[in-house]
Amino acid sequence: MRKIKMVDLQSQYYKIKNEVDNAMLSVMDSATFINGPEVQMFQKELEEYLEVGHAIPCASGTDALQVALMALDLNEGDEVITADFTFAATVEVIHLLKLKPVLVDVDYDTFLIDPKKIEAAITERTRAIIPVHLYGQVSPMEEILELAKKHNILVIEDNAQAIGAEYTFSDGKRKKSGTMGIVGATSFFPSKNLGCYGDGGSIFTNDDRLAKKIRGIVNHGMYERYYHDEVGVNSRLDSLQAAVLRKKLPHLDGYNEARRKVADYYDKVLSESKDLLIPKRLPNSSHVFHQYTLRVLNKKRNGLKDYLESQDIPTMIYYPVPLRKQKAYRQDLEDKDFVNTDRLVDQVISLPMHTELDEEQLKYITDHIMEFFK
Ligand SMILES: *Cc1c(COP(=O)(O)O)cnc(C)c1O
Repeated sequence: MRKIKMVDLQSQYYKIKNEVDNAMLSVMDSATFINGPEVQMFQKELEEYLEVGHAIPCASGTDALQVALMALDLNEGDEVITADFTFAATVEVIHLLKLKPVLVDVDYDTFLIDPKKIEAAITERTRAIIPVHLYGQVSPMEEILELAKKHNILVIEDNAQAIGAEYTFSDGKRKKSGTMGIVGATSFFPSKNLGCYGDGGSIFTNDDRLAKKIRGIVNHGMYERYYHDEVGVNSRLDSLQAAVLRKKLPHLDGYNEARRKVADYYDKVLSESKDLLIPKRLPNSSHVFHQYTLRVLNKKRNGLKDYLESQDIPTMIYYPVPLRKQKAYRQDLEDKDFVNTDRLVDQVISLPMHTELDEEQLKYITDHIMEFFK
């Protein structure tokens, strides 16, 4: 059996090695390393794939979130609502821009921000909501967009974990994740569902005026060379990374399908265990399984993790500490308002999840999990 990895980028690369190598070599031949034609072509292809007006590539997912917030004319102290249970980048950028993060609890079964908790957290100073499509499942966008409209609040989607997922509204309309809010942000970090071979990210919007502004901000606020109209940053996607992404984008739906098959296998076997809860899938949100995350009941999570490790099965805890309890972002909030987050940090375990897992490996993983609980 091949060694089981949490993420196997090497095997995935070998399948497209020739194409990718040639694409990278041709960028080097042309020496168009920054803003070369590959970047423009990738941008167009991404816009077509997502059916979104504008994709603005940038240097990372964190930058994508930061630039999105910078473009929205928020003022110091404005409140931004997001989940307490997510990767720290989301609150990091809120802090950097001197905005005020307002953390709310997530739903226990879906791990996603809870619209009821959002509504309860809205104040006069609330200007934005950042739903995170955690683990690859789209947040309940219909409810979130309705709330935002009612209270005149902006929605910024953190789509770093869910690129390629779709959401179906109650009128039957379907939209790709990251294209429903005023802006969306994604990451091309190597292990993400659409990963490049370094850092990369993109911002999405259907608003032409905002897109123009964002294109300026990622490039030092310049719209005309050496005329700076906005305070900007230097955040560009390399041509080499764009060349890799152009070769991988046509595989994205296939990659996501492969992940879903792994999740189906896990679900089928592991739903039999009374010590485990499998991830809940929402009917109107397609899940692209950036992570496959179980909840382990009866305080057996750490024991399971150690046992699997001893059997050469890697696992990860995404995430062990709620954001409100992180040293950098500590907020004295009442634990009773974060019951689900606090249960989840003790119960969650993410299993190996990538596009190259085979049946032998999946059987080995699930056999050992079931064995542990026997
Ligand atoms: C990965 C990730 C980011 C940050 O992306 P980088 O490209 O690593 O900067 C932001 N939010 C979430 C939810 C992520 O998973």
